[in-house]
Amino acid sequence: MNTALMECFDTLIIGGGPVGLFGAYYAGLRDMTVRLVDRRQELGGQITAIYPEKWVYDIPGIPAIRGKELYQNLCAQIEPYHPLISLNDEVTLIRKNRNHIITVETKSGHIYYTKTVILCLGMGAHIPRKLPIENIEEFEGKGIHYGIANLETFRNKKVIVVGGGDSALDLALTIADVCKDLHLLHRSDRFTAHEETTKKIYYSNAEIRTFSEIMRLEGTEHITHALVRDTKTNNIQKLEVDEIIVAVGLLFNLEVVKTWGIEMEENCIKVDDYRQTSLHGIYAAGDIATYPGKMKLIGTGAAEVIQAVHHAKSYIQEKFPFL
Ligand SMILES: Cc1cc2nc3c(=O)[nH]c(=O)nc-3n(C[C@H](O)[C@H](O)[C@H](O)COP(=O)(O)OP(=O)(O)OC[C@H]3O[C@@H](n4cnc5c(N)ncnc54)[C@H](O)[C@@H]3O)c2cc1C
Repeated sequence: MNTALMECFDTLIIGGGPVGLFGAYYAGLRDMTVRLVDRRQELGGQITAIYPEKWVYDIPGIPAIRGKELYQNLCAQIEPYHPLISLNDEVTLIRKNRNHIITVETKSGHIYYTKTVILCLGMGAHIPRKLPIENIEEFEGKGIHYGIANLETFRNKKVIVVGGGDSALDLALTIADVCKDLHLLHRSDRFTAHEETTKKIYYSNAEIRTFSEIMRLEGTEHITHALVRDTKTNNIQKLEVDEIIVAVGLLFNLEVVKTWGIEMEENCIKVDDYRQTSLHGIYAAGDIATYPGKMKLIGTGAAEVIQAVHHAKSYIQEKFPFL
């Protein structure tokens, strides 16, 4: 009989986006043992999945940095602490026993034991919200994009960006000087992006079309045209286009999380002032965590995960004096 006990981590971080990565760094700094699990093949969360080429301007002490470099910096920051990382594996179950030990199970059948868990799940999977265009499926992979993986795809091309929030405007600005022609389509005239981002898009050479939506796409091997409707006048115009970036939000995919018995509020996990969830020893930070006044940004997520790690450390000292 194998009597060896499996390792019990101080904390297990679920989600290797910017917040989970920064949490792994801070836990290392606090001399905690860490395992980090992410369902994707690559770390970085939304940064690597959606905007590696985009400039990020709101990180303290860094005036401007491309997404991919921010990701590399986050990886360099955790490196000295050698956290154990499992990729391509989704956490499906979290269970706590009478002695406060938490069991974490993954889709591929791994079982981990940990004293605390920090949920940095973002919005679950990064499933982009699609546009209700009847023939959009035909053009997936043939000119429809949900982020900017490579700037060169858009060089000297006619591009339409759809959306009116920070993501859409940021992505439009990322390619504004690279593409040949840029249209920004938004279904209302109210942009919800940061004030400076909105100003920049108006200062750029993009053609801004408010109250507009794409009705239909045309092309054979690749998109060639989009039929665009003015929702106020009902006029339809045919635009020549090579690439379309759809940035109208991400869909929550948290069905599995809902089975863990943690109190949620509108697709997010409720946390208290200590960033603890309704289950003691389980904390949440980043886009998944909610509390009054919450803002979904890397900076706020980084602050939350510092709090989560700090309070997890105190919790461990209280509950596990012998482990
Ligand atoms: C286009 C765009 C531009 C943006 N620009 C900025 C900006 O300039 N500045 C800024 O501060 N913010 C910006 N943001 C927002 C920022 O990216 C998010 O706030 C940030 O990514 C949140 O980090 P996170 O680690 O909480 O979540 P995410 O980055 O979403 O990472 C969550 C990770 O958890 C993993 N995961 C989820 N469920 C499981 C599971 N069950 N098991 C295992 N792994 C799981 C996912 O695979 C994912 O990798 C932007 C967002 C977009 C879309």
